[in-house]
Amino acid sequence: MSDAPVPAAPVRLRPEIAALPAYRQGRPAPAAGYKLSSNENPFDPLPGVVGAVTAAAEFNRYPDATALALREALAARFGRSVDEVHVGAGSVALLSQLILATSGPGDEVVYSWRSFEAYPGLVTVAGATSRMVPNRADAGHDIDALIAAVTDATRMLIVCSPNNPTGTIVTADEFERLMAAVPSDLLVVLDEAYAEFVTDPDAVTGLPLLDRYPNLVVLRTFSKAYGLAGLRVGYALGGASVLDAARSTAIPLSVTGQSVAGALASLEAEEALLERVRHIAVRRDALRAALLAQGWQVPVAQGNFVWLPTGERTAEVAERLFDAGLVTRAFPPEGIRVSIGEEESVDKLLAVLDELVGMPQ
Ligand code: PMP
Repeated sequence: MSDAPVPAAPVRLRPEIAALPAYRQGRPAPAAGYKLSSNENPFDPLPGVVGAVTAAAEFNRYPDATALALREALAARFGRSVDEVHVGAGSVALLSQLILATSGPGDEVVYSWRSFEAYPGLVTVAGATSRMVPNRADAGHDIDALIAAVTDATRMLIVCSPNNPTGTIVTADEFERLMAAVPSDLLVVLDEAYAEFVTDPDAVTGLPLLDRYPNLVVLRTFSKAYGLAGLRVGYALGGASVLDAARSTAIPLSVTGQSVAGALASLEAEEALLERVRHIAVRRDALRAALLAQGWQVPVAQGNFVWLPTGERTAEVAERLFDAGLVTRAFPPEGIRVSIGEEESVDKLLAVLDELVGMPQ
């Protein structure tokens, strides 16, 4: 899609949808450049994945609508029953389903801001209202303010840890404090899209909490650590009745047999996965240390990306990076998110940022 203004539609649209910008994707990388704008994995698919996807090429048949084979594998891995696992075309589809299942006109969805860009749009599409709670000065979720934002109108609360785009985590203690403070019939979604990259032992992990909190749903994805962003597979772990309601709102048959086959094969390649994840986490920590040494205020990063709080200079810094062949995600006037991509991208990044760090605004 071009950046030209969209002409008025010749049909009557819902006004809130007419005003809603479509999901914004990073620019394509220039020919000799690096795409560090979508928190993708720079590695090839895990061993066995390409073969499994190719072998699943029954293009004339519909897939299994319940993705049972993948749910069984995930249920076995996480010690849940099959009904406590739901699979969607990316975890963004599951977010949409959970919002649609709980929240309509007059209802509110509470989440931190800045956080994952898709949240506000999905809430608007459901006809519900977003209550965005500003992050703390250190870019982490403000747990007390999230608790305080919950009212009788709140139907869903989203916690994103590690948070996209700031990279910060919510601790297990903070999360338990939140769960204890909110009504037990309020759906709390813990978005763990980047969970596999977490190295901080204090970070929350939702899985062990599921038995204690029937109102909790944990979201995970094959897009990030598993490197299958192009196949579109995510999963939700939670209570069977909540996931069943989410399933009722889903576009039927949107998870393909090829996606299921790729996800199943990547689950089999656990050792290779862990090695890649470790590698990315080490490079992430090294990049953050180098940026701190240059003088940038980079919050602790626990995903596969770092956050540069560039403030009013955001657009300018992103443009300089782009000119050097580095496509990043700019959120003016707050900051820039940079994915941990190909190894060769790091030196380029540090060279450009070193020139820019001390420059006056
Ligand atoms: N949650 C968060 C926090 C994300 O950053 C993303 C992707 N950028 C998603 C969910 C959705 O990922 P997917 O739909 O590819 O599973």
